[in-house]
Amino acid sequence: MLEIFILGFIAPLITICFLFCKYYFFRIYVVSLEHQLWADIIFYFFLGTFYFVVESLTYFYFEIICFQYVVGITAFFLDGRIRGYLAFALMPPVLMLVELVNGIYSPATIQYVFVLMVASIIFCELINFLVDIDLFSKYATSLVIANIVSPVLIGAQWRSSLGTSMSDVYVPILIGSVIILSFVYGYSAALQRKEVQILELRYEATYDGLTNLLNYDSFADYLTGDKKEKPRHHVVVMLDIDNFKQINDTYGHLEGNNVIKFFSTSLKIFFNRNCPKNVEVYRFGGEEFCILFKNRDIEECFALMLRFQEELTAKDFLTDNKQIVAVTFSGGVAEAKEFNEIDQAVKEADMALYLAKRTGRAQVICPACEI
Ligand code: GH3
Ligand code: MG
Ligand code: MG
Repeated sequence: MLEIFILGFIAPLITICFLFCKYYFFRIYVVSLEHQLWADIIFYFFLGTFYFVVESLTYFYFEIICFQYVVGITAFFLDGRIRGYLAFALMPPVLMLVELVNGIYSPATIQYVFVLMVASIIFCELINFLVDIDLFSKYATSLVIANIVSPVLIGAQWRSSLGTSMSDVYVPILIGSVIILSFVYGYSAALQRKEVQILELRYEATYDGLTNLLNYDSFADYLTGDKKEKPRHHVVVMLDIDNFKQINDTYGHLEGNNVIKFFSTSLKIFFNRNCPKNVEVYRFGGEEFCILFKNRDIEECFALMLRFQEELTAKDFLTDNKQIVAVTFSGGVAEAKEFNEIDQAVKEADMALYLAKRTGRAQVICPACEI
């Protein structure tokens, strides 16, 4: 009775505690370590200790290796093939250690476990490739079958010493498997929800809610972040919609927002069509935008902005009441030949924009350009 209780509840709960440590504690603690090698050493040391404890327990109380494959199968399906292989491969040597420490070393046992380990890996691979179901169902199928099959296969050798018939252990193994699966399912679902939340938060922190353009913080991050993979040369264009306050005052704030969306969408469509690479469009706030060209000739950028001006002039914005609004903008262009001159280029582009406003609006000025 005690053995069945251990098999049905205690062993699954120990396994779950370990899985929880692995997928939560290790995810956060080990991943934070700078050196992957240290992370792996710590993880496999803990895994080896876990195997040692559970294998010692299982050896003396009930069918050997029930639930032993849980960690390997979980790692295989949820953590990647290589980690799965390593988790499986650690079992035979640890079992050998258990037997040596307890003076019961038997090459036959190690052979059984080794063969079962290889069979489990092949089985996982087959399920993964052949069965067209979602990942968790593949994982659940592999787990239940491995938990049931392994004691059946190894069982013959230990059946006599067990005192109970094999059929008695199936129910607790099934209960144990269901317990493990429900915890892993609950946990991975919670993890997925958390990852979705993190992605949403990251999106909100990076993009502007009204226009879905990159926001000012993203621009600041670009300037302060790692420079290694960034080009040295940039062209900065500062844009500002003309007489926007008047649009707000005439048609209302909501229509003003629609004008900002219309302008942003026009920018996106224009750049997707004419210059899809090496350009980023930011909304700095209000009706002010910044365009950052990477490794592009300043004259070419200026020419692009003039074309955009032409395209925008050709289309009008329609309010909800079907009133036509002509949207124009002013712009200033400047260039940064070195990465750390981008700040200065923003100031120069701002000054050119100010000049464009002062000298009549609806124009783009590039003091450094020849055309
Ligand atoms: P100029 O041609 O010189 O740029 O004139 P302007 O009226 O566009 O410039 P100004 O900076 O005086 O006005 C910008 C206005 O934009 C002021 C502010 O109330 C409004 N505004 C800022 N952010 C938003 C927004 O998100 N939505 C709306 N509808 N209005 C905004
Ligand atoms: Mg403004
Ligand atoms: Mg303005």
